[in-house]
Amino acid sequence: MMLPLALITNAKLLNSGFRIRHGIHNGITNTSLLSNCNKCSRAERKWIKPVGYDTGVMTYNSLTKQKEPLVLAQERIASWYSCGPTVYDHAHLGHACSYVRFDILQRILSRLFGISVIHVMVITDIDDKIIQRSLEENISPTVLARMHEEEFKRDMQALRVLPPAVYMRVTDNIPQIVAFIERIIRNGHAYVTDQGNVYFNTQSIGSRYGKLVNLGGVVEEQGVQDKRDPRDFALWKASKPHEPHWVSSWGQGRPGWHIECSTIASSVFGCQLDIHSGGIDLAFPHHENEIAQSEAYHQCEQWGNYFLHSGHLHLKGNVEKMSKSLKNYVTIKDFLASYTANEFRLFCLLTKYRSAIDYSDASMNEARSTLSTISTFCHNAQAYMQGHLQCLPIEEGLLWERLSATRTSVGKVLADDFDTPKAVDAIMSLIHHGNCQLQAVTKVHGPRSPVVFGAMLSYVREIMDVFGVDLLDGKVVHDSSGVLNNVVEELVHFRSEVRKFALSVQDQAPQDTKTGSEMQKSHPQPDRIPLLKACDALRNNLAPLGVHIKDRSPISTWEITRGETRKN
Ligand SMILES: [Zn+2]
Repeated sequence: MMLPLALITNAKLLNSGFRIRHGIHNGITNTSLLSNCNKCSRAERKWIKPVGYDTGVMTYNSLTKQKEPLVLAQERIASWYSCGPTVYDHAHLGHACSYVRFDILQRILSRLFGISVIHVMVITDIDDKIIQRSLEENISPTVLARMHEEEFKRDMQALRVLPPAVYMRVTDNIPQIVAFIERIIRNGHAYVTDQGNVYFNTQSIGSRYGKLVNLGGVVEEQGVQDKRDPRDFALWKASKPHEPHWVSSWGQGRPGWHIECSTIASSVFGCQLDIHSGGIDLAFPHHENEIAQSEAYHQCEQWGNYFLHSGHLHLKGNVEKMSKSLKNYVTIKDFLASYTANEFRLFCLLTKYRSAIDYSDASMNEARSTLSTISTFCHNAQAYMQGHLQCLPIEEGLLWERLSATRTSVGKVLADDFDTPKAVDAIMSLIHHGNCQLQAVTKVHGPRSPVVFGAMLSYVREIMDVFGVDLLDGKVVHDSSGVLNNVVEELVHFRSEVRKFALSVQDQAPQDTKTGSEMQKSHPQPDRIPLLKACDALRNNLAPLGVHIKDRSPISTWEITRGETRKN
């Protein structure tokens, strides 16, 4: 795919009189031809549909404000840059939501559509907030940043967010950033002021400034008086006394916020990027400015082809997004004390990644209950396959048909801008059909259908695994839970024996094959009723502790929900 693209663009370049540059400039690796960028035509702000490999996926592109076919420059390879955290404090649930949602999208692309995602994430480890916080806490900005960077990575691991191919720190890339700014100045798109600041000259790109958001907005910086235009933004800030600084030809200073992303993304991907992601609050001014800088540096018309933005997370009843400055946040650590990573993923899956999402106990309970329905289905399907759960003969044809239809529709809705709520709906509908037939009865003669339930179980696990929801999580036996498992196993076995004895001599009762609850309706000998009551009491008392016993004839099964272990 690369060759034809290069040839096509090269031909256009020759016509348009562009220079061809080779090699490495100022520490930035340029892909060998500037021509790999889409050709320039300064007047337009139109999106250029990329040439390359059509993934068959439609994705909403903030650059066009509509769904577009996702076309990658290279076959089955997606270059993906995302703005990472500014590491000065604990990450909160608002951050977690954006990272989990994009993790889900990347997993869908790689696992379902066979696309290798090369994900690069920047860690902002120098910034006004970091300096401010380090002064307050009287520690060096570097130490503060490293502590929170490690914490962020631990949080992401706890939420099972796959790490990017590489994390890149701003402070490890200062020479590259300086070289990047120098070239923007040389290209005529930035200016140096008497005070040693460097600003991007927004007028120099005319109406192209605003191609993403087009707000014409201005972000006022306090105490800044040396800009030519209020929309201009800092590429380099002269350092104030006692601030961390680096040497440049404009004097001692540090990078502005936006330039780090343009530089670092370009240092890995050159002048062309398939996908750029971030929270919607980053669209302006951050992404707008990244685009302006990168296109001014590469002298190209379209640097990033797709901009994907995730919606905000709000505390329910709160119109403001969750944020540190508004002090309305829940840290990831606090959250994980009450809920699991799987439950948070389900919560994220139940809305579209672009939508705002309301966080509340009610919405988390909905996620928990959906996850529990999925887990219980898997558990019951296993019990049926093992012969522990007896059911009336299964309508196999119907289930095979549902499974095939679900597989098709899940693929289809996920290819339509990653519509995870519709995918979860389709899976829940399949589970509903399975559950309708998995009704316990006492005695059954007739064919069994373990294979169809095996197929459904495998598919549900597989698709949940694509989403990063690990239904096998609880199967991992840790030291302490291993002991617990064995104790519960023995306890349930003992209880089953007692129960079997208590029910062993019964009056004949008419069977209620519809509900399968005939055992409860039979009549044990009066002197054995206390044993049954004790069995019931044990079952009821263990439930709040997370140990759930289900009486099925002829045996009882159990699961531990909070500890996420189960056993048939
Ligand atoms: Zn960024």
